[in-house]
Amino acid sequence: MKDTFAPCPGMVNPINRLVDGSLHGIWAWYVRAHVSRCARCGATYKALLKLREGLRKIGQDEAAKRLLGEDRWNSIEAACDHKNLS
Ligand SMILES: [Zn+2]
Repeated sequence: MKDTFAPCPGMVNPINRLVDGSLHGIWAWYVRAHVSRCARCGATYKALLKLREGLRKIGQDEAAKRLLGEDRWNSIEAACDHKNLS
């Protein structure tokens, strides 16, 4: 169970919002202070940051291809092309 993230109760949403930049003011300050002191929330925060950076680097198309697999993605694109023709 070492690899699973278990932030404090009620902290998942605030940490998510801090990572995507939609948290402001006293809440942003509070959550930032908390993740710097709390090992469990800190690990979650770092993992979410890494995930966001990774998605940004490879771009959304690449992310979609990785999620679905290139073959499956190609077959979906082919199906869409076919639909457009008919
Ligand atoms: Zn915590």
